Amino acid sequence: MKNKLKHFFVILTILLLIAIVDIIVYFTGGTKYVFPYLMLIPIIVSTLFYYTFGGIISAFIAGVFLAVLPIDSNLKIYQTPFNYISRIIILTSLGGVIGYLLKNKQKIKRKTGLETNIYNEKELLKEKVNRLLKSNTDFSLVFISIDNISEITSLLDNDITDFSLKFSKYLKQKYSNIDIYINTDFSLIFLLKNYSITDTENWIINFLDDINNNSFNINNISLFLKNYLIAINKNDINNFDDAFKKMITSLYYTKENKLDYFIYDDKAISSNYFTSELLSDLHKAIKKNELFIVYQPKLNLADNQIISAEALIRWNHSTKGFIPPNEFIPQVEKTTFINNLTLWIITNVINDLRKLKKQNINIKIAINISPRNLMSNLFLTKLFHILNNNKDIINNLEFELTERDIITEISSIKEILLKLQKIGVSIAMDDFGTGYSSLTNLKHLPIDIIKIDREFIKNLDNNKIDYEMVKSIINISRLMDKKIVAEGVETKNTLDYLTNLNCFEAQGYYISKPLLINKLQEFISNYNNKTFKVNNLILDPIY
Ligand code: C2E
Ligand code: CA
Ligand code: CA
Repeated sequence: MKNKLKHFFVILTILLLIAIVDIIVYFTGGTKYVFPYLMLIPIIVSTLFYYTFGGIISAFIAGVFLAVLPIDSNLKIYQTPFNYISRIIILTSLGGVIGYLLKNKQKIKRKTGLETNIYNEKELLKEKVNRLLKSNTDFSLVFISIDNISEITSLLDNDITDFSLKFSKYLKQKYSNIDIYINTDFSLIFLLKNYSITDTENWIINFLDDINNNSFNINNISLFLKNYLIAINKNDINNFDDAFKKMITSLYYTKENKLDYFIYDDKAISSNYFTSELLSDLHKAIKKNELFIVYQPKLNLADNQIISAEALIRWNHSTKGFIPPNEFIPQVEKTTFINNLTLWIITNVINDLRKLKKQNINIKIAINISPRNLMSNLFLTKLFHILNNNKDIINNLEFELTERDIITEISSIKEILLKLQKIGVSIAMDDFGTGYSSLTNLKHLPIDIIKIDREFIKNLDNNKIDYEMVKSIINISRLMDKKIVAEGVETKNTLDYLTNLNCFEAQGYYISKPLLINKLQEFISNYNNKTFKVNNLILDPIY
């Protein structure tokens, strides 16, 4: 309707312009003067909208309008038929030629504007998919992502557009029964009409065999492609945009699980989707003040004083509520965002340590560090910059790395651990007992503290094996000059056992749940001044 109205107004304007020019020509003396040339205006306007057809029709009408006018209006001398018929023919041809040239120009522009073309391809596919969804036809979309595309394009002088066009042309010839579309990011999408899930899987297996066994040539260079194939069947598609979103999520899933191909499956994806969503939210969480740090005090068993605490992150998500660190930290650790997050924690801990120092509380604070942090030179540069600017705080910092991480990554992180130790940062081995390292090996590692995992601590008072193990760990570590911390202390009994075993420090709900910085300050002051005694078991920690 909107379109029809537009055409109506365009045509009306063109006709009006013709009539106006006609009147001007008449009142300025007739066709022998200069004003008939004004007729070119409505003709050109018409070609802009309707190209050749518009040019011919408008020029013909303009010619007829001029034909009825006299050569000289004052003397009432009329034109000869030869004159006006010739003019109609000339004008009509001119209108047609202008329209034709304009149309060709547009076509060339569309051809060279590859992105417009690719955009069109995606739009075409969108229309087709939405149409197929309304019909009874079963179909699948197969999305091909080429993982080594940057390698390939550098071989081909960085011509990614050339590559995508040639690759799609090659596939179109090979798989002529299948519709292939180029996506805006130059990946390809296949539309497999009348394919069930099983048919799709068979097709993918054959396709992968084919593409892996035969190299594909461009400019005489054989290219071996590393593809990921994602398929999604009609049953899992609500609309095109939904399919697209699912394909992108599936691509992450496929890469992360090192699969060659993946057929979309709601169950497999949903947990993964949740975490990708969480990760993207986490980027905003810092700015939105949804993240905060709590500190769990550690009790020195020799003098019954709190002289250290562990920093633990908390996330109060605006819509999903409280999210425990175990649900997002392992995912963040797979991405470089762990560097920003750890640096954020370190900066905040340093600020909090300063606040505590002002209140005459001089404790150590342990920060959980991911091995990925220590392998990133960007992280290390920023870390040493922060440490250099806070030299007076360095001795208050402790870095915790899990036993498993230290053992598996020791060759890459040993130098850094030594460097940190040298400038005064204490290094702790977290979750000791879960990483299967041998006690004698610990002697050679750059660690100051060993934190025994809570699994071994929780049954200390009623499991002989756990008791003996903890006892020997404490004794051997003392010989090696390493401090032992027991985590997960939940009862007075456990604490008493650890005191008798000469354990260095204890951490757990029995002593205190993790606390906000001002509560930590209060707790330490009260505890160390003996105005407060640990005698109650807190089973339900708020943080
Ligand atoms: P973790 O380093 O072993 O931290 C100790 C966990 O045990 C904490 O859980 C703490 O709340 C909990 N806990 C403390 N006392 C007791 C107790 O008596 N009994 C029991 N059952 N649990 C106790 P949380 O805070 O949920 O942290 C879980 C894990 O998340 C941490 O394990 C750590 O690996 C990771 N994490 C927490 N905060 C950070 C952080 O800031 N950065 C990094 N990279 N990881 C963090
Ligand atoms: Ca820890
Ligand atoms: Ca731990």
